[in-house]
Amino acid sequence: MSTERSRLLFWRHPAAVATRRTRSAAGAVAAISLSAALLVAAVPAVDAVGPPGPSDRSGAPRLVARPGERMVSYPGLAVAWPASRVSVGSGYAVRGLVSAPGVGATATLQRLVVGVWTDVISTPVARSGSFVLPLPTFYFGHFSYRLRVTGDGVDPVETPALSVVVVPTYRPRGRDTSYALISTSPVGRWDPCTPIGYRVNLAEARQGALRDVQSALARIALATGLQFRYLGTTDVVPFASDGPFDPSVADLVVAWTDPESVPGLFQPGIYALGGPEMRSGHDVAGGPVRQIYQGGVTFNSAFNPVLKPGSGEGYTRVAALMHELGHAVGLFHVTGDGAEVMSPSLARDRDQWGAGDLAGLEAVGAVNGCVTPDASARGNRGDAQALLTRD
Ligand SMILES: [Zn+2]
Repeated sequence: MSTERSRLLFWRHPAAVATRRTRSAAGAVAAISLSAALLVAAVPAVDAVGPPGPSDRSGAPRLVARPGERMVSYPGLAVAWPASRVSVGSGYAVRGLVSAPGVGATATLQRLVVGVWTDVISTPVARSGSFVLPLPTFYFGHFSYRLRVTGDGVDPVETPALSVVVVPTYRPRGRDTSYALISTSPVGRWDPCTPIGYRVNLAEARQGALRDVQSALARIALATGLQFRYLGTTDVVPFASDGPFDPSVADLVVAWTDPESVPGLFQPGIYALGGPEMRSGHDVAGGPVRQIYQGGVTFNSAFNPVLKPGSGEGYTRVAALMHELGHAVGLFHVTGDGAEVMSPSLARDRDQWGAGDLAGLEAVGAVNGCVTPDASARGNRGDAQALLTRD
């Protein structure tokens, strides 16, 4: 299973200690594993803080907040956290200063994932006591972080949780309650810890279709944290036959097809289909998840002239792809909020995710951590095959 392969690679990554987790509810915070510190001590020491900062009168280095940072002092540790709201892709770092770092000290950034504190990245603490850890801001969402500093000869330090919201670079319209999931209980979502391999069937597509698929997937990735990997072309047409397509082809296929070549696939007026296939799985806390393991989008090529290539004004192919791919990652239609891409009908000039779209995409996204299929899980038909109609 590719999930296991991915986990192994992640574990091997020297900067991440993905296997050691503590449950926040279990009060296991006192169990400090120095072996974990030794594990990451093999990382080449990079003191990205650079030269020591300003010193107080005693000559000890001190940490000075930069614009937009939140200085928080803990016993034995000062931390310059990013602001509570940061723009996606802004490249923030968490800077810290340990007052008595000891030998071989390690600072670890942890994130609360479905109630489980999970290591994000670790770094050695410099002799001066300083360290810097990059804070992931590559996708939207509400995150809860904390820092742990461990090492020989010092008491471990663990900060309380601190929240960081990663926001888009534009102001989304609409309401953040305006979304619906294809599967709500349990939630249907992909495993964000494994890249989703996709192929395109461009036999009946117009020029530039692949570029638009990639543009729409980039917008999905920004909103979910899901990662997509292009595998090439295919002749598969999702939904042309019952059940999933051959899983060895790809995890996700986006196709254009002539309606006459697949009779009955499109009802009158329908110009695209999109949806997921799901099976039973669980998250890192053992909670149930409907794991999306395959996604499909099929466009009716008879409507090609209606969709303008690219994004921007008018009925655009990128907006239609965002909507269909939204179904493929677990979103259903929402009504009563015209700002949402997941409204049942395509609209002019609506090619940015609305506030509800973003909330829904977060609910099916990487914020919620890895998904593992249950041992007994077998592929079964998705709960819904959603339809897109033109308004
Ligand atoms: Zn739809």
